Amino acid sequence: GQGRLNSSTKIPKGNLSDGNRKLDAFSKQMLAQHRKSLPIASVDKRLVEEVQKHDTLIIVGETGSGKTTQLPQFLYNAGFCGDGKLIGITQPRRVAAVTVAKRVAEECGVNLGEKVGYSIRFEDMTSSLTRIKYMTDGLLLREALLDPHLSRYSVIIVDEAHERTVHTDVLLGLLKSVQDARSKSLNNLQNTKNKKTNNDIQLKENGAQCLNFLKQYQGRTPLKLIIMSASLDARIFSEYFGGARAVHIQGRQFPVDIFYTLHVENDYLDASLATIFQIHLEEGPGDILVFLTGQEEIESVERLVKERLKQLPENSKKLVAVSIFSSLPSEQQMRVFAPAPPGFRKVILATNIAETSVTISGIKYIIDPGLVKARYYDPNKGLESLVVVPISKAQALQRSGRAGREGPGKCFRLYQEDQFGKFEDSTKPEIKRCNLSNIILQLKALGVDDISGFDFIEKPTRSAIVKSLEQLFLLGALTDDCKLSNPVGRQMACLPLDPIYSKALILASEFNCLEEMLITVAMLSVESIFYSPRDKKEESRTTKKSFASPEGDHLTLVNVYRASNEFLEKRSGLSKEKREKAFRKWCKENFIDSRSLRHARDIHSQIRRNVEQMGLRVASCGDDVLQFCRCLAASFFLNAALKQPEGSYRALANGEIVSIHPSSVFFKNKPECLIFNELVETNRKYIRNTTRIDYLWLTELAPQFYAVQN
Ligand code: ADP
Ligand code: MG
Repeated sequence: GQGRLNSSTKIPKGNLSDGNRKLDAFSKQMLAQHRKSLPIASVDKRLVEEVQKHDTLIIVGETGSGKTTQLPQFLYNAGFCGDGKLIGITQPRRVAAVTVAKRVAEECGVNLGEKVGYSIRFEDMTSSLTRIKYMTDGLLLREALLDPHLSRYSVIIVDEAHERTVHTDVLLGLLKSVQDARSKSLNNLQNTKNKKTNNDIQLKENGAQCLNFLKQYQGRTPLKLIIMSASLDARIFSEYFGGARAVHIQGRQFPVDIFYTLHVENDYLDASLATIFQIHLEEGPGDILVFLTGQEEIESVERLVKERLKQLPENSKKLVAVSIFSSLPSEQQMRVFAPAPPGFRKVILATNIAETSVTISGIKYIIDPGLVKARYYDPNKGLESLVVVPISKAQALQRSGRAGREGPGKCFRLYQEDQFGKFEDSTKPEIKRCNLSNIILQLKALGVDDISGFDFIEKPTRSAIVKSLEQLFLLGALTDDCKLSNPVGRQMACLPLDPIYSKALILASEFNCLEEMLITVAMLSVESIFYSPRDKKEESRTTKKSFASPEGDHLTLVNVYRASNEFLEKRSGLSKEKREKAFRKWCKENFIDSRSLRHARDIHSQIRRNVEQMGLRVASCGDDVLQFCRCLAASFFLNAALKQPEGSYRALANGEIVSIHPSSVFFKNKPECLIFNELVETNRKYIRNTTRIDYLWLTELAPQFYAVQN
């Protein structure tokens, strides 16, 4: 069983403060005025009519026009939540689901988790009162495992469909079949109902049964499906849904001046920093939005901005840096929306989440290094890696457009004009460039056995499907005829994790080290625990050594986690605020990213609950760390690598030559054989998070792979 989907009647505790804000009359008026001024406000009636008329509708509208925040409210007010049904809105990104839900709760004047709520992996802010529910696309896919007809929903809005994440794509296919199934079962019921009402005698005789039947009947309505997208190309969605109706919402856009660099910028972080201060010191008022590729980069630029500010004369110091990225704790996410103090300029450091998913007002300047972090999968090698790659033209346009929402703006592209010309027109859908084992496992659990036959909006390549099936088979999730008929596969599908991590947890209960593995998986689920500022490289390295385990990075992470436990337990008498402050200080002194660690701690308590519900035994291997290392080998055998004479490593599964990442405890002192978790490509192919293993364990623990090969 999985209890993640909360449907209790209690209002969830904690975090309520954001939506809980008592609005004074003045701010209420301001909010109402803001809502009325949005482009979507003038077409509200027409949109509701379109939804009433068409079961599937595609809505394309400029970013910031009010689609995400307003449409669900229009539909709610028009009565789409009769019979306690829900309006579900999916987002590719968790931050968007959270911040938008908070905003809408505020606009509706309710506490978050009441009428308006959100649900994302590891965090559920809904209750039995919730009618407008924001969630990630991945979460709705998981809900379908428990409720295949998604019968609680009257409307599902798939938002940001242009992002084409693998979850969005699969969700569209699933919703298409759910919609069919619901219409069919509705027709069937209607037919039987007609027959039954013809038969008065039976009706009277069997009142109870009839009542039951009516209840069942009322519970079924056709599923309204709305696909929303920011890009202009609605055709692909319309065609996929059999020529579904598409409507456009006109936005407002002021001119944005675009500037390119004259030379290639070798260090885009330095260039971003220089541009931030150039704008701050030379341009008129207005906030700055900088697009960076990830949390580590954002936090390092944040620190550099603060340092540089200290060196400026007093009258130039009025700049505040705020950041937004997906693993930012939800209580910190709303900070980017708060206006800067009077006289101050705000610089927002964001990942591509700020491209279309969230709209922050007051932005006049954009800094665009032209890069994004993306997943790439090589099916021949079975390797997935995170790579920083150039954005597409469509993305560059979206980014610059963000400066022109409230007035004319400027966009500084940190690349040359002819480089822009070489960008792809649009971004390749994720399903064409990622490992599919996670999604295949979920489809199998949903009863879709023929993966190549599934009605994808765009089919993944055959080789990617085959390789992912093979991987699932090797992990023991599928039988040799690719069926999900064994308990291990079902257990794996229940956990909201990558199959390889789910497998590690299941195995760990056999190896008596589930306690260590839970910590490991939680710590690996966040971007980076350690950081090393440029000017304190040595210092941070020494500090890190105090946590280091000779076995490798995994146990090092376990040590950090346990040290943080000990630290917090000692201060359990303190108030929450004082404890939190002390925790942040401790993290800073140890060059640990406090946000990442906090996030990992939250994830840990969630997955611990998950595995306990599954009945797995949580035990510690204590000093017998060999057990834990063997369990890592048994789980991550597909990522094993052997040292080469010149100090690099050869991945055993595919012969790829890789190097140990400088952050690893093995960077200098290299073991003969190891397993790794992640491949990161910059100028080289680096493996991150490694643990020393004995080569012979592989044939012993993963004979299905190694015995055949050697
Ligand atoms: P769209 O989905 O069409 O891109 P949204 O509905 O997200 O547009 O945004 C509409 C407006 O609501 C924007 O002007 C934006 O500034 C505002 N808004 C959205 N979320 C928040 C928030 N969390 N805080 C303050 N304003 C917000
Ligand atoms: Mg939106």
